[in-house]
Amino acid sequence: MNKTKGITKHFSFLNLKLLLLLGFYGNFFACQPDDSNEPSTYSHEVRVGSSANHIISGETYKFLQVQFQYMPDQKPTQRALDEVKVFIESIIEKPKGIEYFIDEVPSGGKESYTTDDIREYERKHRTMFSSGDTLAVYFLFADADDAGNDQNSVTLGKAYWNTSMVLYEKTISDRTGGIGKPRQDVMESTVLQHEFGHILGLVNLNDDMVSYHEDNNHEGHCKNTECLMYWTTGNGSFVQDLVGRQVAPSLDEACLMDIEARK
Ligand SMILES: [Zn+2]
Ligand SMILES: [Zn+2]
Repeated sequence: MNKTKGITKHFSFLNLKLLLLLGFYGNFFACQPDDSNEPSTYSHEVRVGSSANHIISGETYKFLQVQFQYMPDQKPTQRALDEVKVFIESIIEKPKGIEYFIDEVPSGGKESYTTDDIREYERKHRTMFSSGDTLAVYFLFADADDAGNDQNSVTLGKAYWNTSMVLYEKTISDRTGGIGKPRQDVMESTVLQHEFGHILGLVNLNDDMVSYHEDNNHEGHCKNTECLMYWTTGNGSFVQDLVGRQVAPSLDEACLMDIEARK
């Protein structure tokens, strides 16, 4: 796990196997907002959590674009995409709406990716950015593991900039499905929502918790073991917990209060 607040936040699992698949929404295209009174440039390469208010509130940014890009054969399950859509729409206020876009992109061509590799990839391939009263967020589904994985720790996803997240889709699909393993769509849905939670400033990424609920041992995560924003359950039981689960964990009351406070 990342020890430096706000740089990258990710799901890490100790001594366990993870699995997943993904599907996705159809493509939705919307007209581009033409509000010229808003700043024309928006920094997409800053600290995780720093755009939380812009994403959650409908006051300044009234329209949200969500771009999914997947490397070949890494398309997430439709159910996971549907569920993250419900999640986003349950907590985000955008009076002009929320639109989703998905497209296939080339392989990054590596056996594993460092976070810098992922950042560089995004610079080359991401096409939707914030401007006017539109805020854009980005999910990449990668075709190889995180370079930081080792025997004891596997990263499934990571929020690495203020509007940017990666899911290590191959890592997930390699470890899900089949007897005794979690469902791929449930794992995907969980990781998608968890990383998006970091983008929304959870937990304590802007020093603005309504009540104190950060896990002192895992910065940026919730201390409630039942919460979506728990870093992982202790002693590797998270995957066991996901086995047999039909839906992703939810945000607990403390995390929801932090989101409400940003509206
Ligand atoms: Zn995390
Ligand atoms: Zn929580």
